[in-house]
Amino acid sequence: SYDSLVPLTKVYVDLNAIAHNVSALKALCAPGTAMMAVVKANGYGHGSVAIARTALENGASFLGVARISEAVVLREASIDAPMLLFGDAHPSQIPWLSAHDVRVTVTSLENARLIAHTASGMGKKIKVHVKVDTGMGRFGFMSISSRLDQTIDEIMKIMELDAIFVEGIYTHFANADSKEITHAGVQIGRFNAILDELESRGKKPAISHAANSAATIGHPDSHFNMVRPGISIYGLWPSHDMKLNKVFLDRKDTVLNLDAADMGRNATALDFDAVDVEGGAAAFDPKSFYLEPAMSIVSKIIHLKSVPAGFEVSYGSTYVTSIPTKIATVPIGYADGYSRLLSSRGHMLVRGKRAFVAGRVCMDFTMIDVGHIPDVASGDEVVIMGKQDKEEISADEIASHTGTINYEVVASLTGRMPVKYL
Ligand code: PLP
Repeated sequence: SYDSLVPLTKVYVDLNAIAHNVSALKALCAPGTAMMAVVKANGYGHGSVAIARTALENGASFLGVARISEAVVLREASIDAPMLLFGDAHPSQIPWLSAHDVRVTVTSLENARLIAHTASGMGKKIKVHVKVDTGMGRFGFMSISSRLDQTIDEIMKIMELDAIFVEGIYTHFANADSKEITHAGVQIGRFNAILDELESRGKKPAISHAANSAATIGHPDSHFNMVRPGISIYGLWPSHDMKLNKVFLDRKDTVLNLDAADMGRNATALDFDAVDVEGGAAAFDPKSFYLEPAMSIVSKIIHLKSVPAGFEVSYGSTYVTSIPTKIATVPIGYADGYSRLLSSRGHMLVRGKRAFVAGRVCMDFTMIDVGHIPDVASGDEVVIMGKQDKEEISADEIASHTGTINYEVVASLTGRMPVKYL
């Protein structure tokens, strides 16, 4: 087993953190609101099977994936919860999807007819969720007012196809994580227009869903009867804005003690609609709501050397020591998903102190400058992401060095480092 091998670099995933995050998100929703746990991309790099099981045990009842291969992994692990495949399914995938009860996304009338044709050839009725494009510009039926009639017309035609059962209807937000709430509001309005029209014809599907993490946390009016969070399940905030707002809200008690002028100023800064909760969803209470990052990446120093001033480190010799120091080699590289953009930018933790990445990240190894760390020794634990003593390197910090978002940091792990569940 993995445990019997010499441990070098490990990804730890704390399933208690996943359980906490799922429960905390669920508690933001009105009773009776279902949750689809988004476990695509191998559970955002955390391992889809364990995450799916933990999410299902803690209040999720549906799973979301983006590739048929991801659905296969889950079904082969005997996870039989309802599952939705995002994006267009190819007709050749329909027999497997239908046999394994994976709901298929329908994004156009043409696509629905192809799916229906394949399903009826098999003598099957396939469950689908209709996707509406309310402002993401990716998949689905147009919902701007000039196209509303056509869209309703087409959805009605899909409902008439014998081999198709329209179980759900959904949309996806482009900006629900932003402080600027207009676009999300427009998207909710467009989705409601479609739902209202279908309802007036007695044709509203059983499940309506829209809310990704940002909307689950910040737009309770987008919960409908199912939410669809991904990143927050893993304990990461959908954006820096939201994370900062949370920090700000954490300080609300202090703010409340300020005088009126300060209150006014802070109230403007507090442009976070989650505090104006309506419609039966539980109030977002920043004092009790928190997300717990589930993943950490931990390694060891496998080689340590003292070097003089003027010594070159790694490919391209871009790092040249300015004083005598110690260089440690850590077995993680870009083939593990530790981006080469972290070259001479990233930090790792050793003995509770930060150490800079020295020069270029290699395919399999990265060097760090540890000359300032007393008693540093070969075999010392190195935290690449996560906490060590009072220091922490978050996925957000890594993302800030590489010009990306925490989603990409965790989803880019290549699977070479085994995941160990806590
Ligand atoms: N729904 C769909 C269709 C998605 O593509 C995603 C992920 O991008 C999600 C839900 C979950 O989004 P998030 O990870 O921001 O919560």
